[in-house]
Amino acid sequence: MSGEVLINLTPMETRVAVVENGVLQEAYIERSRRRGIVGNIYKGKVIRVLPGMQAAFIDIGLERAAFIHAQEVMPPNTPHGELVSISQLLHQGQSLVVQVAKDPIGSKGARLTTHLSIPSRYLVYMADSPHTGVSLRIEDEAERERLRKIVDACHEEFASGIGGGFIIRTVAEGAGRDEIAQDMQFLLRLWQKVDEQRGHAGIATLIYDDLPLFMRTLRDVMRDDIERVRIDSRENYFRLKQFACEFMPNIESHIEYYPGERPIFDLFSVEDELQKSLQRKVQLKSGGYLVIDQTEAMTTIDVNTGGFVGHRNLEETIFKTNLEAATAIARQLRLRNLGGIIIIDFIDMEESEHQRQVLRVLEKALERDHAKNKLTGVTELGLVQLTRKRTRESLEQVLCEPCHICQGRGTLKTPETVCYEILREIMRNERAYAPEKYTVLASQAVVDRLLDEESAAVADLEGFIGKTIRFQVENHYSQEQYDIVLM
Ligand SMILES: [Zn+2]
Repeated sequence: MSGEVLINLTPMETRVAVVENGVLQEAYIERSRRRGIVGNIYKGKVIRVLPGMQAAFIDIGLERAAFIHAQEVMPPNTPHGELVSISQLLHQGQSLVVQVAKDPIGSKGARLTTHLSIPSRYLVYMADSPHTGVSLRIEDEAERERLRKIVDACHEEFASGIGGGFIIRTVAEGAGRDEIAQDMQFLLRLWQKVDEQRGHAGIATLIYDDLPLFMRTLRDVMRDDIERVRIDSRENYFRLKQFACEFMPNIESHIEYYPGERPIFDLFSVEDELQKSLQRKVQLKSGGYLVIDQTEAMTTIDVNTGGFVGHRNLEETIFKTNLEAATAIARQLRLRNLGGIIIIDFIDMEESEHQRQVLRVLEKALERDHAKNKLTGVTELGLVQLTRKRTRESLEQVLCEPCHICQGRGTLKTPETVCYEILREIMRNERAYAPEKYTVLASQAVVDRLLDEESAAVADLEGFIGKTIRFQVENHYSQEQYDIVLM
């Protein structure tokens, strides 16, 4: 297995592709505009204390003053219910290191806390809490205990004397000791930098911001089998090198600047593959195909043979298609980043040995997925169920919105249906208002049909009401849209 990471950077967005053996397997996209400031750490200044609200306004260098509640200033181990007055905690003009807990919205400033924390891949470092916590979403008691032991041991080895504590994130489930140790060391190095800055930084300045996507990627997707990382921005290439040099020295030599004439995502057809990953249908080499549907409750994947398969060796063709589908499905789950419940409808197979083999191939392919997944079995109807941990939004959620023409249904009323609606609507208006004339505004397809296939029905109606009906094409109308104008 040989892997490569491609990073495409523009001021508007960052896109990261993980390619394995020449095939795109994972994609991450971040839009600059959508990046908030949550997690950023600033050195701020108290500009006003509000005793009545048990809060204060802090200048952190943004347009609007930020807001902090007394609760967020008190030591985290203060007994519950013992609220110390804000005037005892802060005074005007005081400098204060704070972290953004909530982005500013509209006229409201950012919400702040003094309880600083820095997240990484598996852990979150908590600067003023000496405890080790485990995400509640890791339910298995033995696994919680295993992780806690690893973190406590690493803490003693690397962080004795530094203080603070760690929270073990849900994604740590199943992670090994080395991965966690590496993550902790990364966090501690980062924290030391922040800690230095606390003293030196000027008032109302940023002292830490969450890593941009291309750096986080380096932290989160780097594995031993990734041979190189190519990035198409010269300026950020140097930043990335610098970052690696400081925090992940073993990978620095793998990073290369890509100055190519061709866009970087033309390599390995990444751009094409990304486009394809938004389509419902996935073509298989054997001629078969997958149909992937994302609903709110689950994702369903239907496996189909392509067209005519013949009678000879039908079982063999089906078996081959299912095998190919199993590998393709595992890839699509990663690439589209589909999470939650996934139901797969393989083509029915007679031989139980074939069924077993298809499941085994699927299981094997899923092992390469960094997101935790679990094959939970085959239902009575032969559907394969699995779950995959939801991490970020799916690729479709990042790049698309529900179709406003069909309101997300995925289908439109046929022109025929719309024509009959229009004719009924005219009858209703005739009874209610009896206008002198009718003009119908509709899409090209609907008007064409009214003047052609439905012309007899239109003539009948005109005869019945004793008026002519005028039709007018509105090019910007969708197929379902129409207006009946009375005059
Ligand atoms: Zn639609």
